[in-house]
Amino acid sequence: MHDDPAKLLRAMKEGEFFPVFQPIVELRTGQLIGLEMLARWRDARGGEIPPEAFIPRVEAAGLIGRMTELLLGEAFAATELRESGLQLAVNLSPVQLHDAGLPEMIAGCAARGGFALNRLMLEVTESALLENPGRAKAVAQELKGLGCRLALDDFGTGYSSLRHLEALPFDQLKVDRSFVLSMGEARESRKIVAAVVGLGQSLGLVTVAEGVEQPAAARMLLWLGCDLAQGWLYGRPAPAAEIPQMLKRPRQTFVLPPSPAEEGLLLNMGLEALPAQRLGQIQAIYDGTPVGLCLLDRNMRYVSLNRRLAEINGAPLLAHLGKTVAEVIPRLFPLIEPYIRRALAGESVLGVEVRKPGPEGQTVLLSYHPARDEAGEVLGVSVAVMDVTEHKRTQEALEESMSHFRHLLKLGPHVPWVLDGEGQVVEASPKWEEVTGQSLAEAMGTGWLKMLHPDDLERAREAVRLALSVGEAIDVYFRVHARDGSWMPMRSRGAVRFDAAGKIIGVYGVLEEISGQKEDGAGGRADLQSCGAQ
Ligand code: C2E
Ligand code: CA
Ligand code: CA
Repeated sequence: MHDDPAKLLRAMKEGEFFPVFQPIVELRTGQLIGLEMLARWRDARGGEIPPEAFIPRVEAAGLIGRMTELLLGEAFAATELRESGLQLAVNLSPVQLHDAGLPEMIAGCAARGGFALNRLMLEVTESALLENPGRAKAVAQELKGLGCRLALDDFGTGYSSLRHLEALPFDQLKVDRSFVLSMGEARESRKIVAAVVGLGQSLGLVTVAEGVEQPAAARMLLWLGCDLAQGWLYGRPAPAAEIPQMLKRPRQTFVLPPSPAEEGLLLNMGLEALPAQRLGQIQAIYDGTPVGLCLLDRNMRYVSLNRRLAEINGAPLLAHLGKTVAEVIPRLFPLIEPYIRRALAGESVLGVEVRKPGPEGQTVLLSYHPARDEAGEVLGVSVAVMDVTEHKRTQEALEESMSHFRHLLKLGPHVPWVLDGEGQVVEASPKWEEVTGQSLAEAMGTGWLKMLHPDDLERAREAVRLALSVGEAIDVYFRVHARDGSWMPMRSRGAVRFDAAGKIIGVYGVLEEISGQKEDGAGGRADLQSCGAQ
C-alpha cells in the first residue's frame, strides 16, 4: 500500500499520531526504571491503526524521521515524563540509523524540551546493520557521543548474527517478546531466552525481556539473571498523563516465598548473584567441601564431580566424566540405583546410609536431589556423598565399650550414685534396691539417709557437706537397716565434680556392702573408723 505522503503529513499535523509509554521495571526489585515510547495512530474517524501496519507505511512515505521528531517533541513537552526522572526508550527504524541528520534532530528535540540526552535509550533492530553498516556505525557513534545509549531490539528474530552485537556499541540487549511469551509452554523458547540472557551477560550488556505477561515468566527470568522486564504484567502502554500513577503503583517482584529446600540455597547464593557469580561460588563449594559431590545426567552419567568424590570412589577425576555410575562403581551401583531413579523422578532422597561391599567395609552417607532447569524440569541428579566409615567405627567401638561397662557394673559389687550440687541423690544404679533393700525412688533426694543407723547419720551428712563445700573426697562408713532387722555395714566413696569455672557441681560415687562384716554395735569397725568423716 502506498500512501500519499502529503496525506500522512496532514494526519500528523492534525495530531492523529501520538506517543504512549510502557513501563520497564527492574526484575529483582520490581522498581519502575524507564518507559518505552510507542507510536499510536488514531485516524480522524477514531479508528486505531496498529503500529505494525502503519510504521511500514510511514517509512515508505519517507516520513519516519518526521514521525519520531513529532513524538519526541510531544514526549519531551510532557511534564509528567520530565519530572519522573525515568529513562525513555525510543524506537528507531533501520532507515533512521542511516540518516546523518538523526543525531542533530534528536539533540535539537531534547534541548527544546529540556530533556537530558543520557536519559535516552535508542532501540534499533539488526536490520539497521544489513545495508551500509559503516554508515549506521558512524551515526550510532555520534549518538553515543551525545550521551544517548543504544539497545539492540527484538534480538533472536530475523538475522541474529553475533557480528551485529560487535558492530555497534550496544548497552542493552532486548529479548524478543515472541520467546518470552511462549516461555511457559515451549522448552525451546526457554532455552533461547536463557541463551540470549547469558550472551548479554557475558558481553556485559543490560538484558531486557519484553512481553512478560505471567508471574511464572518473571520468576524464570529473574532466576536466569535477566535485569529488566517489560510487559502487561507490569503495565500496558499508556499516555503521559498516566505516568504519575505508574510511579505510584506498588512494586511487585512476583517472587514466591521459597520452599524450605530453596531457602538455604537462596541464602547462600544471595538473590543478587548473577549466574556467573553463582557458578564461581558453586565451584568454590565444590572444591572446598569435605563432602563428595557430583551431578549425574538423565542417563546416570557423571557430568561434573569434585576431587573428594573421586577419592571416595577410589578412581581419578577424569575417569568419571562421561562414564555411567555403573561403569565407575559397579559393586555399589545395584545398591544405589533405586535412589538415583527416585531422584530422576523428582524426589529428594536424603541421608541414606550404605555399606560398600568389600573388605574395607567403607560406610557412606548419600543424598540424592533432583537438579532442575528454570522451568522445573529434571535435568539430572545432584549427589552428595559423605564417608562416615570412621564415624561409624567410633560409634561401634563406643557402643561396645558401653556394653562392657554395663556388664561390669552389673557383675561388680558397686552401686554407683550421683549427688547434685545441693547434696541430693539424683541418680543411682538400679542395683541400689538389691544391695540396700531400699527402693530407688525412696533413696532419691535425701531419702537415702532414712535407711542409716542413727549413730552414723551425722558422719554421713558431714562427709557430704565437706565434699560440696571444700571438694573433699567422700569415704564414709555407715550401717544400713536390713530387712531381717540387722545392720549391714556399707562403705560409700565419691569424688567431687567441678564445672569449667571450677565450681563444685556434684559428687559421683559408689556404694558397696562390706560383705560378711555385719555389725550390731554402735560406732563401726576399727579399721574403717579412719575412712569416716573426721
Ligand atoms: P517493539 O519495539 O518490540 O515494542 C514492543 C511491543 O510489544 C509493543 O507493541 C507493545 O505494546 C507490545 N507489548 C508490550 N508488552 C506486551 C505483552 O506483555 N504482551 C504482548 N503480547 N505484547 C506486548 P506495539 O506498540 O504494537 O508496537 C509494535 C512495534 O511497532 C514495536 O515493537 C516497534 O517495532 C514498532 N514501533 C512502535 N512505535 C514505534 C516508533 O515510534 N518508531 C518505530 N520506528 N517503530 C515503532
Ligand atoms: Ca522496541
Ligand atoms: Ca522489541
